[in-house]
Amino acid sequence: MKDKKKDIRALTKEQLQKFFVSEGDKSFRGTQVYEWLWNKAAHSFDDMTNISKETRQMLKDNFVINHIRVDRMQRSSDGTIKNAVKLHDSLTVESVLIPTKTRTTACVSSQVGCSLDCQFCATAKLKRMRNLNPDEIYDQVVAIDNESRLYFDRPLSNIVFMGMGEPLMNYNNVMKAVEKITSPEGLGMSPKRITISTSGVPKMIKKLADDEAKIKLAVSLHSARNEVRTQIMPFNETFPLEDLREALEYWYSKTKSRITYEYIVWKDINDTREDAQALVRFCKYVPCKVNLIEYNPIDDGNFQQAPSKATDMYQDMLERNGITVTVRRSRGKDIDAACGQLANKSA
Ligand code: SAH
Repeated sequence: MKDKKKDIRALTKEQLQKFFVSEGDKSFRGTQVYEWLWNKAAHSFDDMTNISKETRQMLKDNFVINHIRVDRMQRSSDGTIKNAVKLHDSLTVESVLIPTKTRTTACVSSQVGCSLDCQFCATAKLKRMRNLNPDEIYDQVVAIDNESRLYFDRPLSNIVFMGMGEPLMNYNNVMKAVEKITSPEGLGMSPKRITISTSGVPKMIKKLADDEAKIKLAVSLHSARNEVRTQIMPFNETFPLEDLREALEYWYSKTKSRITYEYIVWKDINDTREDAQALVRFCKYVPCKVNLIEYNPIDDGNFQQAPSKATDMYQDMLERNGITVTVRRSRGKDIDAACGQLANKSA
């Protein structure tokens, strides 16, 4: 019977209020508890100091709070922090705090492992074990917000769904977490400070547009040529660039929000002028900017960062065509916290 207790954070505020009414209490008690669970991120019923001891005991008899635990925290020489996060069923995911002069960004995971098969990504080697629940995503954000206040004297400012997993393959839970993060009853953050990064699931990009979430969208493009993209991101066979383009056009027509393309230039894979030209053509479909990101080697060594003259060639060609491009340096490499390295060693 004990194990059958329900995770209290799976309840909506209304359900919680109804529960209290059914227990002969006021619906307002539900509002108070809801505030403890989300706004104050309580991990124990005993933290709820304005709730009577009897009520807390009643809650303990009926529910659990399946909170995460930061199992191991590693700090990089550049200030980046990686949290190994233990879930209630002992599975582990990772999240990263990335500080700059003015911002703290949380890079959070959406799944344990990943169902996609990007050949250059460490998480893809893990396979997908399960989706994260909304509260497990929310807790990662809260943990990083706390670390930001503790180590950098400021609250968290931005969130990117660029940790483990494909957020659009766990759409409902990711959106529920976003709702909690942006709600004044949760963290009250602006959705404009949240970026969902996807490898490009056309149907779900359209759904995201329809749902008017007001978040920012990033797409891990890495090649604008089907024959190349399918080789490095095999699901491109099912969701080819034509479908991605159509979904992105739909996204922009609905949201008017510029898309960011993430792109790595690899030696002998996508480092020719033809590859760069294909990217320039793709960039003309929808207002966008390009982040040329550095490759973080994963252990099997099949991919190598192209020499800087290839990246320069891309940058040049994009700029000459009026496309905004930034070259991003990796953070937290020394602790395997950089993009695509999550689960490299801790799995
Ligand atoms: N599934 C989502 C989010 C997770 S990956 C997505 O694909 O966007 C987050 C970013 O890291 C993506 O842009 C991805 O392409 C990039 N990435 C994956 N492996 C990498 C590696 N080894 N080095 C650098 N970036 C990598």
